[in-house]
Amino acid sequence: MSISRRNLLRGASGVAALSMLGSLQGQAQTGHRVVVVGGGFAGSTFARYLSLWGGSDFSITMVDPREGHSSCVMSNLVLTNELSLAQLTFSHEPLAGRFGFHTEMASVTKIDATARRIDLDNGKSLPYDSLILATGIEFDDIPGYDPALIPHAWIAGDSTEQLRQQLNTELPPGGTVVMTIPQAPYRCPPGPYERACLLAAMAQKITDDAGGSGVHGSPTVVVLDANSGIQAEKATFTAAFNNLYGDVIKYVPDAKLISVDAINRGVETTAGSYAGDVLNVIPNHRAPALLRDAGLTAKGPWALVDPVTYESSVEGFDDIYVIGDAQATGQPKSAHMANAQAKVCADAVMRKASGLATHSVERLDNITTNSACFSPVSFTEAAWLTAVFRYNQTAQVMELAPNSLGASEGWDRESYRDMYDWANNLFSDTFV
Ligand SMILES: Cc1cc2nc3c(=O)[nH]c(=O)nc-3n(C[C@H](O)[C@H](O)[C@H](O)COP(=O)(O)OP(=O)(O)OC[C@H]3O[C@@H](n4cnc5c(N)ncnc54)[C@H](O)[C@@H]3O)c2cc1C
Repeated sequence: MSISRRNLLRGASGVAALSMLGSLQGQAQTGHRVVVVGGGFAGSTFARYLSLWGGSDFSITMVDPREGHSSCVMSNLVLTNELSLAQLTFSHEPLAGRFGFHTEMASVTKIDATARRIDLDNGKSLPYDSLILATGIEFDDIPGYDPALIPHAWIAGDSTEQLRQQLNTELPPGGTVVMTIPQAPYRCPPGPYERACLLAAMAQKITDDAGGSGVHGSPTVVVLDANSGIQAEKATFTAAFNNLYGDVIKYVPDAKLISVDAINRGVETTAGSYAGDVLNVIPNHRAPALLRDAGLTAKGPWALVDPVTYESSVEGFDDIYVIGDAQATGQPKSAHMANAQAKVCADAVMRKASGLATHSVERLDNITTNSACFSPVSFTEAAWLTAVFRYNQTAQVMELAPNSLGASEGWDRESYRDMYDWANNLFSDTFV
């Protein structure tokens, strides 16, 4: 395959070309009104596929406050200066133009399930027949945490760029980075460990470029994990921490975040207090307040849904669906998974709107999703993990399909190249 960076650039120019095509093909639609809240991996895939499959039977509006979605997938490579955030940002308009749905640039502030209407922060209200909530996550409140000073870089955007700049300009040779890992479940199970490896690679490079550890001492990356151990690809990341970065990474399990000292870049955890030249805090996750305040999470952190349709299983929320990271089916919170769930949901919405069964025996036998994560562990090598989930009709839950868990043995250059192919395919199937 062609070199990775060029590959992504080619993808970006493809978006521009499709935008022109879209403006020729776009047409007003009338029909069953579907409002999609969020234009990330779940929302964009849903709008794309319902438009494709349902055509003019559906009038779809996708609402997102941002003009384009910045992908978390591959965003750790922004920190290492390999990719720019612009290369990972996908404008909503070309997709909407190509598939013939509407967009509204706004934030949804309220869901009125009785009136079947949502309110936007621009003063408008949108009525719906089906409402799809694809809002991703928000973070728990942490005493002292100020995201304007301390980047999380876990919802890609300004925070990613802020962490990149702090690493590049404020981490001295032989310096210390402190990062926190949230309590599971969080988005991208291997993601924080991948982040730790790349922070270590950056800290080592900065030190080496300035004369090496002999002159400045070894840099340190303190990894404070709220969990009792590594949550994904344990053998791979244990080997990476011990062998590739044995002098750099100090891994501390059972370190639950208590508070942050944003001025001094310090944290207090259940495993002690730490401070660094650069501090990367990733707080625990939950479904956004929009969903929790509406009652869709039934007081828990995540929205309760039927995994056969992704329709809310909380009483009083008929025709409201939650897909992607915000829901509680227990499947990995990943972009690949959000893309898969969106297709199951689009099929269910189409069937329900057409009076077809969503829980037919044939359909229940075929409810399948899958997930994949590629993790760069150095500037040139990556590891990967994949899994398939199937619906268990007796337990009425999604569960890991037998023998479907696959993982690389360690890391290598070929997987690093495959990572770009995989990401480009996922981006194309979601945003283009
Ligand atoms: C560093 C990192 C690496 C990752 N790597 C991988 C990987 O290798 N493979 C993988 O599969 N996954 C990976 N992930 C996880 C993946 O990014 C998420 O699981 C995925 O983005 C979830 O999709 P989503 O649609 O639920 O949420 P998002 O993609 O976050 O989209 C949510 C959208 O909703 C919008 N929104 C929120 N609130 C409102 C509102 N009130 N009104 C209107 N719009 C709203 C937001 O603006 C946003 O556009 C990674 C994550 C990180 C942080």
